[in-house]
Amino acid sequence: MESKYNSTVIAKILINPDLMILRVKTDEPRDMFEAGQFTALGLLASEPRSQNSVMLPEVLREGMIIKRPYSIASANHETQNFEFYISHVKSGQLTPRLFNLSQGSRLWVDNKILGVFKLNETPKDMNIVMIATGTGLAPYISFLRSHIKDNQGIKLVVIHGASYPWDLGYYGELKLMDSLFSNFYYYPTLLEAQPENWTGLTGMIEEHLANGLLEKESGVEVNPEKTHFFLCGNPKMVESVSSYLERFGYTKHTRKNPGAMHIEEY
Ligand SMILES: Cc1cc2nc3c(=O)[nH]c(=O)nc-3n(C[C@H](O)[C@H](O)[C@H](O)COP(=O)(O)OP(=O)(O)OC[C@H]3O[C@@H](n4cnc5c(N)ncnc54)[C@H](O)[C@@H]3O)c2cc1C
Repeated sequence: MESKYNSTVIAKILINPDLMILRVKTDEPRDMFEAGQFTALGLLASEPRSQNSVMLPEVLREGMIIKRPYSIASANHETQNFEFYISHVKSGQLTPRLFNLSQGSRLWVDNKILGVFKLNETPKDMNIVMIATGTGLAPYISFLRSHIKDNQGIKLVVIHGASYPWDLGYYGELKLMDSLFSNFYYYPTLLEAQPENWTGLTGMIEEHLANGLLEKESGVEVNPEKTHFFLCGNPKMVESVSSYLERFGYTKHTRKNPGAMHIEEY
């Protein structure tokens, strides 16, 4: 059974007990990918689950590999070392098994890297606003690690929605980029934070957009001729932010019909 595996965990960094950065080395290199794309991770159904997961009745065949897609957070020059940003769905099938892995554990990683949520394909003179909830941040980390240096002529914004300060994975890296690059703006906003442990933005991403955060703080216009938006994460956030953007003439980007609003739902 173990022979179905083709990769090894090289690091597991817990941001909090239910949020982790998982670094994986594949036995064989993968093809070059583009920032924003995803691959699939998998573990055998027989693997043990994390101790704090909730076991629902599962109908899983012996020898079956449970597979799920995950966005790649690594820079796009990596072909064998991949980083993933993963949230623990305690009643889920795969994530309780992924959270039980440790350094040196083996797992399956798909040979294919897929997806049309590609951040480096926007017209070169357009600003890029990257909006995420939770682990929807992963594709933006890949983009920034790969391309921030080549995009000095435009403005780049990350708006990240989470609940508590300890849910903000990559906070240090994004703060550092914000201080190093004058064209990069990082706005984390928290729904459950208390004033004693958080002095930054609070509340819903949609409210900040409606209150003119982008125009006032970073000089970025909500205009499909000037700014591309990427939305990644919770379907409810994606739905409400995309309806807001549609009022400004934004249309969803597809292979057949290019638009300035790019969507990946988890
Ligand atoms: C293109 C793509 C990229 C993705 N990238 C990432 C990523 O980078 N990081 C990441 O953590 N996930 C990512 N996901 C989600 C991931 O594929 C799994 O769906 C998720 O990890 C849950 O898997 P599971 O087997 O544990 O739960 P499942 O057994 O598949 O689901 C159990 C239940 O939990 C619900 N559920 C699924 N996800 C969540 C969640 N986050 N919070 C609460 N409930 C949930 C499902 O709707 C379902 O009802 C991505 C999904 C897609 C489609």
